Amino acid sequence: MDEIVNFFHARANEFIADKEIFQAILNKNHDALYMLTKERWAVLQQENPHLIVLQFHNSDGTSLLRVHRPTLYGDNIAKKRETLSEIHSKHKLLSGFEEGRAGFVFRILVPIFNNEEYIGAIEFGVSAQNLAKLIKHDTNLDALFFTHKSYIGKFQELKESTAVGDFTSLNMPESLLPLFNRYKKIYNTLENNFIEFGAHLYYLSTTQIKNYKGDEIGLLVFLNQMDDFEGYIKGIALSSLLITLTLIMIVAIFVHFLYNRISGKMNFQELFNQTVLDAIPSPIIVTDGKELILANQTFLLYFKYKSIDAFKKEHQCVCEYFEEGDTDEFLMPNKDDRIWTEYVFHNPEKNHKVKITINDTTTVFDVKLSVLQYNNAARYVVVFTDISSLQSLSTNDSLTGIANRLHFGMVYEHLISMAKREHSDLGVIFFDIDHFKKINDNHGHLVGDSVLKGISSLIKHKTRKSDIFARWGGEEFIILLPNTPLESCVAIAEGMRLSIANQGFVNSLKVTCSFGVATLRENESSHELIKRVDSLLYEAKELGRNRVVS
Ligand code: GH3
Ligand code: MG
Ligand code: MG
Repeated sequence: MDEIVNFFHARANEFIADKEIFQAILNKNHDALYMLTKERWAVLQQENPHLIVLQFHNSDGTSLLRVHRPTLYGDNIAKKRETLSEIHSKHKLLSGFEEGRAGFVFRILVPIFNNEEYIGAIEFGVSAQNLAKLIKHDTNLDALFFTHKSYIGKFQELKESTAVGDFTSLNMPESLLPLFNRYKKIYNTLENNFIEFGAHLYYLSTTQIKNYKGDEIGLLVFLNQMDDFEGYIKGIALSSLLITLTLIMIVAIFVHFLYNRISGKMNFQELFNQTVLDAIPSPIIVTDGKELILANQTFLLYFKYKSIDAFKKEHQCVCEYFEEGDTDEFLMPNKDDRIWTEYVFHNPEKNHKVKITINDTTTVFDVKLSVLQYNNAARYVVVFTDISSLQSLSTNDSLTGIANRLHFGMVYEHLISMAKREHSDLGVIFFDIDHFKKINDNHGHLVGDSVLKGISSLIKHKTRKSDIFARWGGEEFIILLPNTPLESCVAIAEGMRLSIANQGFVNSLKVTCSFGVATLRENESSHELIKRVDSLLYEAKELGRNRVVS
């Protein structure tokens, strides 16, 4: 934003430095000023398609000339607009978002002095709504502007409006109205959320809009349609339309950005690009593979650093934050003898993910990377997209919160190959609730559900960190115990059996479970081990239930 302000500050000074223009301002000569500025206005507009306002203000609060609407002038506009009364009293450059006739406008106001005396101001206005259209056109992402309800009276031409919590939309297309009506029924406030609508799943993310005083006066909301969500979950193909489109947009922005740096050209587009980068709610960095070169605002906010330099003082690489998971699904600083950026670059067909914890909050990010050649050196543009909610949807069972069958399957194959490689024990405990059908029949499904939850949480507390506890399906559960010999697995299962049998669940219900226990044999396949432990469980049922068979 600073750069946009600097840019227009310089433009304003060019106007003021022009003797004829300055004279027209001093004489409050509307017609002469219009004749002198209208051609420059046309050029400025061609150069900057988002520029919608160029206005000269008299120090008494009246409008001297709206170059964008020359027939309307002489009205006391300072009465209606806070930024104007501010500049007329403080005589200092100011900037920020403010209402326009139909939406937010980013305004830059530059004071004009005759010797020491304040004689008025030049105002530039950049349309935020235009940006939304541009984003839609280039990326098909919907960018919607919402205003805080305390601010709503300021918009003269607010048409169809939809309120969500404290915010009301400014540019809601009719086609999205039903979606937001549904969103309102589910959530009270506008914040990062998933919303299912029609046959699609959407991800909604928000970023703040601030006025010249720094008050939050609105929200910029990005709406991303995530197609083929089913395929997504199934294959844990966690790349999405959002990520791809964001990357396309960002790379386009960076190419422009770097090109302008090289050619020494500073133009509006570049300034706007930096603004867009900062507004994107995903951390984004540029690195040469060794060193961090650029980062957007979201990156700094997320890692809680004031600047890139402050970050670099304490860290050599973002990858210091990368954590390991249950399987090798997460990216590590080095993989296959390559540093992570190169690894991602050479494996574009894979979905790369990293897990990062800041202040006890763990986030899973999708990692997308693109390469730019700049001064004969490679620059990586890396976009980190928060997929924590998707990650948890795809790996956890929604009723009990423990791992689901899909996640189990991935970890299982991984642990089997580890155990074979290291010739270590891998234990499996498979258990099933006894006569669960009766619980449902006699007490209802809701009671059945809470028994499932109760048993899950009881057993979860009895497993170790390295164990994997998952819902196999229905009322069947499975536990993997790496590096655990058979006797220990049996003892652990026995302990579990007893604590379930002794626990009272909802309505003081008594519940028992039957267990099958085995460890991996040499030359046994993952499939055979499951089959074996399943028949052991069957045996436990046959022998009268509430027992462990190994
Ligand atoms: P057994 O001792 O032989 O295992 O008998 P059972 O009644 O537990 O076994 P059966 O396989 O006949 O019945 C399992 C029941 O579990 C049937 C199904 O309705 C119920 N069930 C499966 N998933 C859920 C669930 O998510 N919630 C509830 N409440 N019940 C479920
Ligand atoms: Mg059962
Ligand atoms: Mg069963």
